[in-house]
Amino acid sequence: MHRWLMGILACLATLTLAPVYANSIENVRVWPAPDNTRVVFDLSETPAFSYFTLYDTKPYRLVIDFDNTNRKIDVSKVPTDSLLISKIRLSTPKDKQSTRIVFELTEKVDPTVFPLAANDRYGERLVVDLPGRSIARSAPVLRASDLKERKVTVAIDAGHGGDDPGSIGPAGTYEKHVVLKISRALADMINEDPAMQAYLIRSDDYYVGLKARTRKAEEIKADLLVSVHADAFTTPQPRGASVWVLSNRRANNEMGRLLEDKERLSDVLGGVEISIQTDDTYGYLNEALVSMSMDHAMASGYEAAEEIINEMKKITRMHKSKPQHASLAVLTSGSVPSMLVETGFISNPEEERLLLSNKYQQQIARAVYHGVRSYFTRKPPDGTYFATNRASKHVVRSGESLSVLAERYNTSVQAIKERNKLKSTVLKVGQVLDIPSSG
Ligand SMILES: [Zn+2]
Repeated sequence: MHRWLMGILACLATLTLAPVYANSIENVRVWPAPDNTRVVFDLSETPAFSYFTLYDTKPYRLVIDFDNTNRKIDVSKVPTDSLLISKIRLSTPKDKQSTRIVFELTEKVDPTVFPLAANDRYGERLVVDLPGRSIARSAPVLRASDLKERKVTVAIDAGHGGDDPGSIGPAGTYEKHVVLKISRALADMINEDPAMQAYLIRSDDYYVGLKARTRKAEEIKADLLVSVHADAFTTPQPRGASVWVLSNRRANNEMGRLLEDKERLSDVLGGVEISIQTDDTYGYLNEALVSMSMDHAMASGYEAAEEIINEMKKITRMHKSKPQHASLAVLTSGSVPSMLVETGFISNPEEERLLLSNKYQQQIARAVYHGVRSYFTRKPPDGTYFATNRASKHVVRSGESLSVLAERYNTSVQAIKERNKLKSTVLKVGQVLDIPSSG
């Protein structure tokens, strides 16, 4: 027999003897959130898998078997950064064709494991959700109030997160990172205000489902939900900020429809288990379901959006000078007035640079803060500090200066001085000031 023929036969023999893998693990990502850790496996094909837990002895283990699967990465080198996972490693597979991956866990948790179908950005994925505290920073909580009147609660929703990067700018800026920074700045400003408190629905880089975001705002009985985003268009020209409120019909313009489509993509990329999506997940509201409280929430959301636009246009170009309507799932709370702020076009190179700058992030956050404050000053919810201090009177508290008050009430030191005929800038605790209305 010829040498080359023997060679070919030898090759064929190896081919038939080596295990044939239908699937392969291409990558693994770990997304720790305050009360959960998500692990995402990227796979070349739809996974066939099974899993079980070993909780009788330590270390506690979650074992996942991938049938007919090899791997392209070293799973032990995947950075975990989760308090729940002490180690990810390989273990002896149940057969030669499969891969067994073991998670060593610090707690006995009840995992949820589900596949996600391929889309434009990702191939097939398998998601492992482990409930439990996963980052050192604790879950956002609302601070107890030291006031007799309750504080107004503002739920701040930084768009996207985790596997969902949001829009990506021409220089590679991820929307999810920029909007988290703006949201954190806004939360800090609100928390410094004695009449308000903030709750960050997403406080780090992880995904929260759209419906879960509105549910959270309802759970904490928020007085307002502000979802923070950065816009993108298919061409680099469009620029400027805009504010969106809920419509119970699909948007009637291109930008609105694009926004609706992008929002649905969030749950696809971020990864929401199909079984927990509901018919109204995407905001197509059955008109019969639009209750009186929903009407009220929508009208209030619109008024608050107008106040925010008034403030934003002082510091940035507006793409639209009136609140825009779209059917967005994140705005469909039946009880919490909601709006979505597009802070600028990340697809416009100049605005991408702005959005990346700390200065612009602070300016946007401050404009939203002032808008929120004007709204509650005008429409104070019952029993709140805003309601009892409605007559634009301010009782000076320890540590407050004229400049602090000018900032808070969106007026100037000079205006407060003039209104109250003050000769000096020194304030006394308990002193009552007339606050000029902002203009
Ligand atoms: Zn967005």
